[in-house]
Amino acid sequence: MICRLRIDMQFHLLSGVHITGEQGKLWVDKALVVDWHNGEYPIVPATTLKGWLRESAERLLRGLGIHACDGSNAMTICGTCAVCDLFGSPKKRSPLSFQDAVLSDALTDVRMNASLSRYRKTTYEERLFSTEIAWHNALNAKVLGFFTSEIDVKKAAALLWLAAKAGFAIGAVRSRGLGWLELAKFQVQLNNTMLSYDEMTDMIAKSALQKGVNK
Ligand SMILES: [Zn+2]
Repeated sequence: MICRLRIDMQFHLLSGVHITGEQGKLWVDKALVVDWHNGEYPIVPATTLKGWLRESAERLLRGLGIHACDGSNAMTICGTCAVCDLFGSPKKRSPLSFQDAVLSDALTDVRMNASLSRYRKTTYEERLFSTEIAWHNALNAKVLGFFTSEIDVKKAAALLWLAAKAGFAIGAVRSRGLGWLELAKFQVQLNNTMLSYDEMTDMIAKSALQKGVNK
């Protein structure tokens, strides 16, 4: 049996966002990544969203004393933990598919930054650089997934929900106060039927995390 998962998330953006793109711009050092279709709007790429949720899920499980490997480095991906099951590893593909989140009609501006010398606590000469920033009030993300049982769909939804709630900032330059967000909506459909928050909470309490503890 194939069970289909669809998640629609909405985050409130509490600050500007920066994710560096490939595109070169004459007047800015670090330009934003934009939609590949017509290059009009800034986006949060699917890979960034996935990486961000993975990182948040890892931190969360470790906080609960459950093993979760470090997915930021290919050498440390274990292929057996709950995070690898959901987000994939070199041994097994992820059952999830993420889409780019387009920040339609976002306003953009440019911030100047300076690189600081940690040693001398002064600015490096000629190290002033500009970063393009997108401003929008909401970020909408969509995730699809295919699983072999309803239980697996619910476990996946529960972990993604917790990860989305716990993540605090996305994208580059997070340490400079960009990319702050807050989960506003998290809608889950299992084969076109809405899953309630209660069902996800039950799942977390009963089995999703229990499995990890028993490992
Ligand atoms: Zn792992």
